[in-house]
Amino acid sequence: MTKPALTLLIAAPRGFCAGVDRAIRIVELAIERYGAPVYVRHEIVHNKFVVDNLKAKGAVFVEELDQVPDGVPVVFSAHGVPKVVPASAAERGLEYLDATCPLVSKVHRQAERLVAAGKHILFVGHAGHPEVIGTFGQVPEGSMTLVETVADAEALEPADPDNLAFLTQTTLSVDDTAAVVGVFTRRFPSIVAPRADDICYATSNRQAAVKAIAATCELMLVIGAPNSSNSVRLVEVAEREGTPAKLIQRATDLEWDWLEGVTTLGLTAGASAPELLVRELVDRLATRYEVAEREVVTTHEDLTFKLPRGLQAA
Ligand code: SF4
Repeated sequence: MTKPALTLLIAAPRGFCAGVDRAIRIVELAIERYGAPVYVRHEIVHNKFVVDNLKAKGAVFVEELDQVPDGVPVVFSAHGVPKVVPASAAERGLEYLDATCPLVSKVHRQAERLVAAGKHILFVGHAGHPEVIGTFGQVPEGSMTLVETVADAEALEPADPDNLAFLTQTTLSVDDTAAVVGVFTRRFPSIVAPRADDICYATSNRQAAVKAIAATCELMLVIGAPNSSNSVRLVEVAEREGTPAKLIQRATDLEWDWLEGVTTLGLTAGASAPELLVRELVDRLATRYEVAEREVVTTHEDLTFKLPRGLQAA
């Protein structure tokens, strides 16, 4: 029996960003250097496949530092940690490696500088996300206010409206953030903006790549984890273009009835999802469809980040 035809538009860029690549490499090199087990505080990146692979190599994932036994090295995840975490690791004499993405660290340093300059920071982000917890943990309590939505921004009653600055989480929706920032600048015209956009290059490039194909697809599949902020944003971007979208972690999560009536399918992957998972999905599609694959490239990425000094090749 001949298989039905399916045009598959694959967004590019997609998948791993430079910060995720670096964080995974740090755990692998730490295991090579110190031997297993190496403890990792929080999922190094929000992807089960990546975490399971590292577990198999000797990484042990915990949520808090007090779950790390004395005398073993610990890695902090790409999302960043409050200042108190490395401080308590140092107090206990633990060897630690910081895999915080340099673009998240950049926001941390901006927060510190703004607070030192006497500003109150409005921080656009999602409550409870580890990056938000890490960034709030860079500055004294009370010096930063979380703003999640346009409604939050409209409801703000800051004590000193002429002495504000704003910063954002790195993995937000470009469009939603612009709307929140629009409210800030209208209500507080003297608010200090970050020097460069805090939404990282990987987040905005992946959203732009989805925008470029979503309208021509009847369905968009996003490979990523439900707790991966940038992956969830990709689903929203497609839906805003009027295209239904599904977030899946592995090829086996695909339900065939989603594809009923679909002749053009869009595919992308969040910044913490490896390319291998994209290929796995294409292979599964090919078991039932005659797949014509086309990559739609909106921009090229070649950014890489240096490893921490202790792990660089001699
Ligand atoms: Fe860094 Fe952006 Fe990747 Fe997060 S998504 S690790 S901020 S490059």
